[in-house]
Amino acid sequence: MRRQSIIDYGAPLSETTGEVPVPQGSEVLVRVSHCGVCHSDIHLQDGYFDLGGGKQLDVRSGRELPFTLGHEIAGVVEAAGPQAEGLTAGEHCIVYPWIGCGNCALCADGDEHLCNQPRALGVTVDGGYASHVLVPHPRYILNAQGIAPEIAGSYMCSGLTAYSALRKVEAHGRKGPVMIVGLGGVGLMGLQFAKAISQREILAADIDAAKRETAGALGASGLFDPAAEDARKAVLKATGGGVAAAVDFAGTQSSLHFAQSIVGKGG
Ligand SMILES: [Zn+2]
Ligand SMILES: [Zn+2]
Repeated sequence: MRRQSIIDYGAPLSETTGEVPVPQGSEVLVRVSHCGVCHSDIHLQDGYFDLGGGKQLDVRSGRELPFTLGHEIAGVVEAAGPQAEGLTAGEHCIVYPWIGCGNCALCADGDEHLCNQPRALGVTVDGGYASHVLVPHPRYILNAQGIAPEIAGSYMCSGLTAYSALRKVEAHGRKGPVMIVGLGGVGLMGLQFAKAISQREILAADIDAAKRETAGALGASGLFDPAAEDARKAVLKATGGGVAAAVDFAGTQSSLHFAQSIVGKGG
């Protein structure tokens, strides 16, 4: 099998090769057709997250080099171990990468993504920048028939991030409009989930006019530029006192400040 691997932190990925693994027990071998490049992959390749203000978070521990990134994996089921049931060879799939140790209380509770001894594909265990990836159990394989494989894998990262955030404000969203702040890849996915989940108006804000235009085309009913001097007033006026909830997908100090400043009472 072929992989694009980290050989040295901060250096370009390099091709590494090895035997195609034979799945044992409950393992499933997926032939990767597509794998998304997440922004966090760039930080993992660097070996640190830039926290701003000259601060860095070292993320080099917990994996041996060479290491293969890639947690937004789409492909087909190629082979399965004798205890891996319920899958069909050739099935189009995406892979849930946030796999835990399977032994702790968090994992037992179904919160594997919070596990402190993770086996997360592409983060602590070799991932999808490869011709094949080995998955420990069929429960991490989701059928993706009918979903364009070039975007399907990203539902496992930016998709889950956006979906989880939107579900947290679902109750508020029944009372009034929801504002999506930050219209990058995750924010635009959040906007589309919000449109699907909520019956109410979805508003959108970004400092980039082109992104606001895209959000308008995706159904945002009000578009705002947080950098505009009267942005807050404009939102309060348009919503009669503020939005029921705001979700900040940009995560900068100014975006968070804007998001908080436009939420109405009880939001
Ligand atoms: Zn990601
Ligand atoms: Zn665990």
